[in-house]
Amino acid sequence: MSQADGQVFDDPSAHDWRLLSAGRLTPAAGDARYDVENPATGATLARVPDAGAADVAATVQAADDAAAGWAGTDVRERAAVVRRLADVLDQHVEEIARLDSLDGGFPLWMMRKDIGTAGDRMRMFADWALHLRGETIPSSTGNVHFTERVPFGVVARIIAYNHPGMFGASKIAAPLVAGNTVVLKPSDLTPLSALRLGELWAEHVPAGVFSVVSGSGVETGDALVRHPAVRRIAFTGSPQTGRAIQRAAAESGVKDVSLELGGKNALVVFPDADLDAVVEGAVKGMNFAFAGQSCGSTSRVLVHADLAAELVDRLRQRLEKVVAGAPFDDGVTMGPLISAAHRDRVAAHVRTALDDGARLVCGGDAPAGGGHYYPATLLDGVEPDMRVARTEIFGPVISVLTFRTEQEAVDVANGVDFGLTASVYTRDFDRAHRMARAMRAGYVWVNDTSTHFIGMPFGGVKESGVGREESMEELLGYTQIKSYNLVLR
Ligand code: NAD
Repeated sequence: MSQADGQVFDDPSAHDWRLLSAGRLTPAAGDARYDVENPATGATLARVPDAGAADVAATVQAADDAAAGWAGTDVRERAAVVRRLADVLDQHVEEIARLDSLDGGFPLWMMRKDIGTAGDRMRMFADWALHLRGETIPSSTGNVHFTERVPFGVVARIIAYNHPGMFGASKIAAPLVAGNTVVLKPSDLTPLSALRLGELWAEHVPAGVFSVVSGSGVETGDALVRHPAVRRIAFTGSPQTGRAIQRAAAESGVKDVSLELGGKNALVVFPDADLDAVVEGAVKGMNFAFAGQSCGSTSRVLVHADLAAELVDRLRQRLEKVVAGAPFDDGVTMGPLISAAHRDRVAAHVRTALDDGARLVCGGDAPAGGGHYYPATLLDGVEPDMRVARTEIFGPVISVLTFRTEQEAVDVANGVDFGLTASVYTRDFDRAHRMARAMRAGYVWVNDTSTHFIGMPFGGVKESGVGREESMEELLGYTQIKSYNLVLR
C-alpha cells in the first residue's frame, strides 16, 4: 500500500516526512531534520523536517502569492474546499488519531473523538460562509455607505501540543473560509498529524493556500511571526510564548494577534451540589485522558469547608481508578506526559506544594521507566497564596481549597492571573446566575465541566488570552472591515 492510500502509520520512522510549502511536499533546506519522541516509551518515533528561516520565508512568499487569488475565489467555493478537507479528514480519522496517540501519548479512543470534533468544527465554518457580510450604514443622506469584510492575506496558525490533529485541522478552517491563506506550524513535540494532513490535503487546495512547516525550536515559529507578509497571527499555547509572539509581532510590523493561552480553572462546589456530579465533573474537567495537559483543566477545586472532607475522600477513590498506560492499551484512561522534562516540572510543582504546606492525598510519585508517566494526584489543604494554587501545572494534579462564604469563593476563584474557564456546582438557580456572572473567565459552566458546545465562543480573559474561537467570532476575527462611501453627484 502506498502512502497515498491512507494507510495507518504504525511505524512513522519508516515514513519520509515532508513540509507542505508552495503546494509541494518538500524537505527542509539541506534536508535538516530532528527527532520526535514517543512519550509512552521515550524512544525516537520519527525524524521530521526542521524548517529554518529560509524554509519559512519561501513558504510565506508562496502563501502571499496565492492570497489574492484565494481572496477572489467565490466564498462558496472556499467553503467547498474546506468541506472537502473535512471529508478527507473523515476518511483518515483512524490514521490521524493513531499518529496523535503515538507522538502525544494520548489514549487512542480519545484521539478518535478529538479528530471527529475537528471535522464538525470545519464544517461549521464552511456552513457560515455567507455570514461574512458587511453592513449598509445611513451615515449621510443621498449617498451610499457600506462595509465589507476582507481577509488579512497570510495567516500564521501556531498550535500547542495537546490536541495536535484536532487543532491542526479545525483551526485552519475559519481563516480559509474568510479568504486568507494559512501557514500551519504544529508543536515541535507533536508534528506528525499536521504533516500528514499536509500530504493528504495537498491535492485538494490550490498551491500556497494551505502550508505546513515543522521545526525543532523557536526559530520556525519566530520566523513565521516576524515575516512581513504575515499580518494575522493566531496562537494556541502558553502565556510565556504568547507574550514572546506579541513582542516579535510588534517588532516586525503592526499585526493582529489572537492568543488562546493557559488556565488555572476553578470548580466551585456549594453545599447543595450533587456530589456524584461534582466528582464526575472534577474528573472530566481535569481531562485525565490528556494527563491533565489541557488549558481548561479544572485544577482548582474550591469546596465549601463543610463538604471538604467528604469530597476529598470521594475524589481520592475516583482518582485511584484512573488507569495510566500506553495509548493503545485497552482500558487506559490516562496517557503519559509529553516529555521527561515536563514530567520533572510537574513533579517539582507537587514537591513545592508539599513544602508550602499542602497535603498529599494520592499520587505524587512518578514511576521509574521509559515512559513519562505521572499519577493522578490530589492535594488537600491548599491555600490561595500557595504557588500550586496560582501556577498552571499542565499535569494530572488537582488542588483542593476551601471557602466559607459565596464572596470568599468568588475572591479565591478570581484571585489568579488566569481567566479561561470556571465551573460552579449548585442547585440554587439564583446563586448559579450570580456566580456565573461573577466569575472572571471567558467560558463558564454551571453543573458541568470541560464540554465545548459547538458554536459557543471559547477563549480567556487576563493571562488566558485575547480573542474568541470555535464560534462566529473566530470566523469574523480573520477579517478586517473595509468602509466604502459612494458620494452620489
Ligand atoms: P508552547 O507555548 O510551549 O508552544 C506552543 C507553540 O508555540 C508550539 O508550536 C511551539 O513550537 C511554538 N513556539 C514556541 N516558542 C515560540 C516563539 N518564540 N515564537 C513562535 N512560536 C513559538 O505551549 P505548549 O507547551 O505546546 O502548550 C501548552 C500551553 O498551551 C498551556 O499553557 C495550555 O494551557 C495552552 N493551551 C491553551 C489552549 C486554549 O485554547 N486556550 C488550548 C491548548 C493549550
